[in-house]
Amino acid sequence: MDRHYPALLIIFLLTACSPRILVRPATLDDIVPLARDENAEPKISTCYSPLTYVAHPELMRMKYIRVNIHFMNSKDGLYNIPEEETTAYARDWIMAINSNLDNNMKMFLPHGNETPVLPIPYRYVITPDPTIPGDDGIYYHVDDTLCYAVKTGRERNISDKRVIEKYAVRDDSVLNIFLQTHQLDSIKSPTYKPDGSGISLGSSVKVFAKWNERPNVWDMRGITNHEIAHSLGLSHTWGGHDGCDDTPANPNCWNKTDTPPCDSLYSNNMMDYNAHMAALTPCQIGKILMNMNRLGAMQRNILEPHWCVLDTSATITIRDSVRWECSADLEGNVIINAGATLEIGCRVSMPKSATITIYPGGKLVVLSSGKIHNSCSAMWGGIRLVEERKHNGSLMVMEGGLIQDTFYPLVIQK
Ligand SMILES: [Zn+2]
Repeated sequence: MDRHYPALLIIFLLTACSPRILVRPATLDDIVPLARDENAEPKISTCYSPLTYVAHPELMRMKYIRVNIHFMNSKDGLYNIPEEETTAYARDWIMAINSNLDNNMKMFLPHGNETPVLPIPYRYVITPDPTIPGDDGIYYHVDDTLCYAVKTGRERNISDKRVIEKYAVRDDSVLNIFLQTHQLDSIKSPTYKPDGSGISLGSSVKVFAKWNERPNVWDMRGITNHEIAHSLGLSHTWGGHDGCDDTPANPNCWNKTDTPPCDSLYSNNMMDYNAHMAALTPCQIGKILMNMNRLGAMQRNILEPHWCVLDTSATITIRDSVRWECSADLEGNVIINAGATLEIGCRVSMPKSATITIYPGGKLVVLSSGKIHNSCSAMWGGIRLVEERKHNGSLMVMEGGLIQDTFYPLVIQK
């Protein structure tokens, strides 16, 4: 016993000398109301400005887009690969298009640009329909009318939605990809180009090729990412009217040639037609993230909702002064350290049971355009104040700011 006595004494002294630390839920009484301050917030809401969505990478964890794949064939089997080959082929294809997203390219244009190369924050996941036993999200349809594509001429049908209306599966929550081969009679015409191409029609895309000839999936990755990016909200860049300053207008050259303008002005952007289609700029990524974080948007509905379940490894710690000027669906807790300030200027969703903890001297400010809530019809854990020697963190809510979906009493409804 004697041997342990000094150690026990030290523990007692530490306990006796440490200040009393209390952690308690914030209540309405803790809220310091702030009058609306015209100068404190920008005139035009930043919540709809793409670049704010790439300013805080910690808010934007990887997004997973649910996809399913439809192979269209004719009764005589000439328009696509045999059904038994489709599972392996579809998986290889998705792996190939995801691998392009792993490696965002530096922009070729404009020359000498210093446009940052940001990671592309989304991937595709083949997603079965859980209501169909044994479903794998890869479908095979035999339909002599809807199995082919005609890009030009009287029989042009690429924007025809009948194949989607007839065969799409869960297109309110899954991106449906249809594979159609160019009509075999059209291919015989010397003026018809049976190239890898496609069209985006909302939450479905059609990709055209000679699928019956089993094109190498690596050759299809650029056009597939291009069409899906249309569905995610991006426009072509070559005309210079896509709403982004970092995607210069260009002559839309397929590749480098020996003669102007394609000897120097060829693009590698995903939203031009070129041999690479592998670069996305910060503004383009920001646009996609903005759509993915907009409540009710199709681009959000097709995502796996990772933000509904608390992931404690996704905790965000605020160490200095930060203003979040974009909407975000967080996946973890938030900790505001002593002396740090977090200002929330747009919609922020907290996962079920997640908390925001404010240390003494830390400050949380919900601005008039700010809102903290749970976007999964659940309750989040609310705000916890750490109290030390009567020192608290502070919680300020500007007129118009909202805190919702927490247990009583910390609910400010509109
Ligand atoms: Zn396009």
